[in-house]
Amino acid sequence: MKRLIPGGVNSPVRAFGAVGRKPFVTTKAKGAYIYDIDGNRYVDYVMSWGPLPFGHAFSKSIEAITRTARHGLSFGTVSRGEFELCNLVKKHITWIDMVRLVSSGTEACMTAIRLARGFTGRKLIVKFDGGYHGHSDSFLVRAGSGLATGGIPASAGVPSEISTLTISIPYNDLEAVKNCFDRHGEDIAAVIVEPAAGNMGVIPPAEGFLELLRTKTAESGSVLIFDEVITGFRVAPGGAAELYGIIPDIACYGKILGGGMPIGAVAGKQAIMEMLAPIGPVYQAGTLSGNPISAACGAALLKRLNKRIYRQLEDYAIELTESLKTIAGCRGIPLVINRAASLFTLYFSRENIDDFAAAQRTDMKLYAGLFGVMLDNGVFIPPSGYEAWFVSTAHGAAQLKQTLRAFERFAVLYGK
Ligand code: PLP
Repeated sequence: MKRLIPGGVNSPVRAFGAVGRKPFVTTKAKGAYIYDIDGNRYVDYVMSWGPLPFGHAFSKSIEAITRTARHGLSFGTVSRGEFELCNLVKKHITWIDMVRLVSSGTEACMTAIRLARGFTGRKLIVKFDGGYHGHSDSFLVRAGSGLATGGIPASAGVPSEISTLTISIPYNDLEAVKNCFDRHGEDIAAVIVEPAAGNMGVIPPAEGFLELLRTKTAESGSVLIFDEVITGFRVAPGGAAELYGIIPDIACYGKILGGGMPIGAVAGKQAIMEMLAPIGPVYQAGTLSGNPISAACGAALLKRLNKRIYRQLEDYAIELTESLKTIAGCRGIPLVINRAASLFTLYFSRENIDDFAAAQRTDMKLYAGLFGVMLDNGVFIPPSGYEAWFVSTAHGAAQLKQTLRAFERFAVLYGK
């Protein structure tokens, strides 16, 4: 594999490098389980990194995909399914006026900052240390996810002329936000933020943080972008904007929007969205944008998301995380669990984890130990301590029991 594909993977975290294990090769997945080539079955908390709130191979998604595929795989013209999906997006996220579909979260974020620059005529982008907004050039400055996992502060291949237009400041640091706007306010095109961070592990916003971003961007005439690629349709029907009650100018979506098929979206206020070609001067395009199969799969999911589903996901997350804390406590293992609705991350630490620097001080060797024991006991957790765990409605009592049993084994091995 490694001779054929760099590192043997098509996305770096899949290499399991940070946890010191050989990656397994997946053959299939169903419900809460993923299966490897050797026939092993694992309770899955990676869940394709978030697009599957109803679990793997959800029957309604499969039906929608097969029904749609009979009529063609891609048209390169306008098709009905795109409108159905965009209408469903608007139904869930009531503050938006318009939606443009793209093919990934990376594309959505890349388009969002181009839009912000086109709208404001300014150049600077503000992001937060440990935030991840896909792999386009502007965002690979002190980024989270795979870069944090691999200890990569910045990517080679990004010209300094581009990276100097990105300012990265600590997440949840209200003073840093104020200073940044005092110094650069009139040149800032946009602030892009994960409204609950998910790529330095889960870190919910501190009190007043999102409010301050809203006030400062409004005062300075810059665009507030919520990157809801993880949180969108996951923490609430209307994403983190709904959960925390702060409305950005535009937002980026992906993952759940396509239910496991490639998709992304930029959505927001009309005045900004109308800057996009063909009606405006900001160019964006895509051969597979609004692909009918992705749109049908996403619609099948969005139709079925309701308050009861969110309650179910969060109840599972609460029961699991509370039990893990109890087990760790009994064995003297210093464990902090951050949670935002059903999203959570385990950090081995004695301090609160409020920003990237704190996440980097946690015991990642112990996390690697946890990963190994869990895997050996049939539970697949994120192969990096800088990622969120994802649950689905297919996770229930049996999966909870197996997870806790595996964690007990870890606690016996590594605790007092
Ligand atoms: N934004 C956030 C918050 C993400 O977590 C990710 C990916 O995990 C992206 C953007 C990029 O999305 P994609 O991997 O679909 O390009």
